[in-house]
Formats: sequence, structure tokens, C-alpha cells
Amino acid sequence: MESKKRVAVGEGLLTGPLEQFEEVRLVGTRCHDCGEVMFGTYHSCANCASEEVEQIPLSREGTLWSYTIINHCPPEPYKGPKNPFIPFGEGLVEVPEGVRVVSILDCPLEEIKIGMKLELEPYVLYENEAGEEVVAWKFKAK
Ligand SMILES: [Zn+2]
Repeated sequence: MESKKRVAVGEGLLTGPLEQFEEVRLVGTRCHDCGEVMFGTYHSCANCASEEVEQIPLSREGTLWSYTIINHCPPEPYKGPKNPFIPFGEGLVEVPEGVRVVSILDCPLEEIKIGMKLELEPYVLYENEAGEEVVAWKFKAK
């Protein structure tokens, strides 16, 4: 069976071959002038406006900084299970580079704890109209 083409859920957010989930990393932008690191791809620094920035792969491991439980089905563009909707945790995951990334938490709700160690888990969120698999990320307990 021929495998489907994969695309990232957002431009400049993921790097690495999307066919190999263990190689996929989140993308950060680091400023050479002030050291600020941001999540995603930018061409200038949000802190000091310098254009001396570079893209870096972020660590696949992080720590849960804060979270909430989503108990009601979010509106579009939510692509997760709807019928039935399954409540899930959504958190801010701090990676060693100093960035906090918003992410779904792939673990039982009663096991979610601030400070827990987490690991990046890329996954196919849905198939788009072009027949491509859209890759997003969540974090799971390490
Ligand atoms: Zn800067």
C-alpha cells in the first residue's frame, strides 16, 4: 500500500521527516541578540525586534507547567473525536529551551500533574480534502 503524503498542521511548526514520527521535532526560533526563544518560525525577535534569528529544533521532552481539562467539545477547527466527545487535558509544556508550548496531553485525566515529565508525540490528526495526512502533536507521560 502506498503511504499517504503528510503535511504539518501549521506552517513552520514541525521539522523532520513526517513519515518518521520519532524524528519529528517542534520548531523554535532563537534570537542571537537577546537569547529569546519562541515557539514556531519567525523572521524577527518578539522581544527585541532583531532580525538575527535562527530556527532550532526544540527538545522532544518537556515538563508540564500548567493545564486545564477540556470538558466540552470545542468549535471548529477542532478535529478530535466528537461522537462521542472525549474530555482531554490541554497544557503548557515547558521545554528545556525555555519555551512553553500549548499541547494536548495524551494521558488519563487523573494522572495529569503539574511538573510531570512529558514526551512529544506526533500523530495524524485527520486527513484533509487533498487526501494528505495532517500531522499535529501532543505530549504523553514519559
Ligand atoms: Zn531578541
